[in-house]
Amino acid sequence: MYPAAFEYHAPTTVAEALDLLGRLEDAKLLAGGHSLVPMMRLRLARPGHLIDLRKVPGLAGIREEGSTLVIGAMTTQWEMESSPLLQARCPILAETASLVGDPQVRNKGTIGGSLAHADPAADQPAPVLAVEAELVCEGPRGRRTVKAEDWFQGLMATALRDDEILVEVRVPAFAAGTGGCYMKFPHPASRYAVVGVAAVVTLDRGGVCAKAVVAVTGPGTRAVRARGVEAGLLGKPLDAGSVEAAAEHAAEGVDVQADLQGSVEYKAHLCRVFARRAITEAARRAQAAR
Ligand SMILES: Cc1cc2nc3c(=O)[nH]c(=O)nc-3n(C[C@H](O)[C@H](O)[C@H](O)COP(=O)(O)OP(=O)(O)OC[C@H]3O[C@@H](n4cnc5c(N)ncnc54)[C@H](O)[C@@H]3O)c2cc1C
Repeated sequence: MYPAAFEYHAPTTVAEALDLLGRLEDAKLLAGGHSLVPMMRLRLARPGHLIDLRKVPGLAGIREEGSTLVIGAMTTQWEMESSPLLQARCPILAETASLVGDPQVRNKGTIGGSLAHADPAADQPAPVLAVEAELVCEGPRGRRTVKAEDWFQGLMATALRDDEILVEVRVPAFAAGTGGCYMKFPHPASRYAVVGVAAVVTLDRGGVCAKAVVAVTGPGTRAVRARGVEAGLLGKPLDAGSVEAAAEHAAEGVDVQADLQGSVEYKAHLCRVFARRAITEAARRAQAAR
């Protein structure tokens, strides 16, 4: 099926893109097109204008600013997956990128597109929450920063305003003694997360959990932090017993939805199983990083 007719615009600066976004009625930004174009073909979206960000220089790439990694919104999943900088300094984001869809999707799909689209089954929202990233939006009044925790507001709803572009994602590099892991139960056709859990844990010198951030994507209408799990891990040595007990809280605070992939009970069970697995692996990696 073909999309409805639209006007195509290819700005070459962020300012030009913002001007078009402010001026044109019914305009949508286009990044990798791997969520927007299928929606247009299904007539679930019918923008009158597409503003293509691909010719705007400076929106892609990963750089280091002190202990912060700055990921341009137009950076593709493939660029994240294969970035030596990300692999070394914030490996959970590279790991997650490697699990998105298939090579075609990863070569086109962008981190900014994924976070702006906020599909409830998307992968990157979970690790972005778990690393406590900050999302930088640019609009007519300049730039503002939104904490990942405040970004995902509901089903495909984010803190991004209509007249703004998500320009970069800022991520703290892993500290010593930190390990992270993202694991998912993938949909067999699309590879989207039926349930995905990201865990980032920091161990102190004695091997006790000094910090834990755990987030769940897939089963609910938006990705959320699993606060009960985090509280269950803090101050404990991360052995099988403590991890299993904490992981029992993984579905708390998630508005688990029943659908063709499974019942509420089944998906809540997957939350607990994948939380246990992701935390166990994150703890193993944290141990190795001490
Ligand atoms: C077959 C298939 C399998 C997939 N499997 C997975 C999977 O396993 N896991 C997963 O997480 N995803 C999966 N995806 C989704 C894929 O990762 C998408 O590409 C991604 O979610 C959207 O990124 P994009 O760059 O393609 O954005 P686009 O489709 O171009 O845009 C999506 C939305 O975000 C907006 N937008 C884009 N960039 C910006 C920006 N910088 N600022 C503000 N708004 C912006 C657009 O206006 C649009 O509304 C799959 C997609 C396909 C087609």
